[in-house]
Amino acid sequence: MRMFLAVLVCRFIHFMGGLFGRGSSLPGLVALKIYPSVLAHVKFPPAVVAVTGSNGKTSTVEMTAHVLKSVGKKVIYNREGSNQIAGAASLILSSCTLTGKVKGDVVLLETDERYAKHIFKYFSPTHYVITNLLRDQLTRNGHPEWVYDSILPSIPRGTTLVLNADDPLVSCFADAADKTVWFGMDRQPFSTEEHIGVYDDGKYCPKCKAPMEYEYYHFNHIGSYRCTGCGHKKAATDFTVTAADLEKAEIVINGEYNIKLAFSGIYNIYNILACFAVCSLIGVSGGDVAQNIGSYVLTNGRIQRYRLGVNEGMFLISKHENSVSYDSSLKYIAQSGADCAVIVIVDSVSRRYETGETSWLWDIDFELLNCDSVKRIYLSGKHAEELAVRLSFTDIPADRITVIPDIEKMTEAAGAEKYGMLYTVTCFSDKDKFLSKTEPLENVCGGVDR
Ligand SMILES: [Zn+2]
Repeated sequence: MRMFLAVLVCRFIHFMGGLFGRGSSLPGLVALKIYPSVLAHVKFPPAVVAVTGSNGKTSTVEMTAHVLKSVGKKVIYNREGSNQIAGAASLILSSCTLTGKVKGDVVLLETDERYAKHIFKYFSPTHYVITNLLRDQLTRNGHPEWVYDSILPSIPRGTTLVLNADDPLVSCFADAADKTVWFGMDRQPFSTEEHIGVYDDGKYCPKCKAPMEYEYYHFNHIGSYRCTGCGHKKAATDFTVTAADLEKAEIVINGEYNIKLAFSGIYNIYNILACFAVCSLIGVSGGDVAQNIGSYVLTNGRIQRYRLGVNEGMFLISKHENSVSYDSSLKYIAQSGADCAVIVIVDSVSRRYETGETSWLWDIDFELLNCDSVKRIYLSGKHAEELAVRLSFTDIPADRITVIPDIEKMTEAAGAEKYGMLYTVTCFSDKDKFLSKTEPLENVCGGVDR
């Protein structure tokens, strides 16, 4: 009876919310008040996939949903912003019959790394993907090792963990799992023998704290490692990127599946690989996955083309308080090699909470913009001066940097001078403040990991 009521109320509020355009977690919140353990009594389909980690969750979930839908499966999945327990309850209950049976073939959940343990108290995913652990929103989450401790109790018995073998911290989760499937990338032309970046979170073993040795790095602490103390090392992988060509924007998985990248970036390759692994594990053939990932274009506006004054530009979403996300955008700009100007905006640090904490700017590798193709860098937003101080610690010539805190005035200046391309790097929280001053152009790019 309580199930009936919880589902009914959830559906009703969901429906009303749809009419008024309200947030997606309220129906779940109310249903949980009526029946706190309601999720423990839901009848789930045979495949329940959860995806967590610092970066790439949303892209992996959206790509996986696309592939599963393309092969005819009915997928219940959440979108960004509803990855805590009330959001999961809203999603699941509004997709249930009144007796509590999920009407779908696969439940696919993006889960917040700190809330997964609350969600999985009531039900277990059959497959649990952990993408990576990187510095992300330190004011909210703390250091990646703290996030590790937070995810660890969320791993239920019987779940198959799908882990990134190239991340030494993520790999430790295998110790807590009944079964682990590994994904990773072999050495590629872009892999490096030396660590590149402002900080190195892979310097010491997460298990015993002895120094680590790397055969190669793909980015930050992601690569092929071995601990000099306890022997903790990159596991043999079940799903492997055997070849990757960033210039041609192509990868090969397990030596046989060629996939064309809609957006060329190392980070995106991992999302595709995680998607490939999980779809394969729930019974989709490799050929079908490859074909349908190839046709996928991320549609959530993480990359957007625009016109501003005399320039055409490309907007690259980058998460504030997440240096790897920024580094990926800056690398993309540097690698493109064509003449350009770059706008960096830090106005509101977070959408979720009030903070003026900007120490994360020091983790970003702004030196990447010290190349001849970058003709000018505009710094804007409330924290423009802090950005300027940060960039003064790079070798970028000071006369290439223009500081205009007011976003409107900055766009007038950047739109008036002709550059080959005008890149904008900022977060969701500041996106519309900039894009509202531009004219949108048709998107030609696909997914990028963040
Ligand atoms: Zn060790």
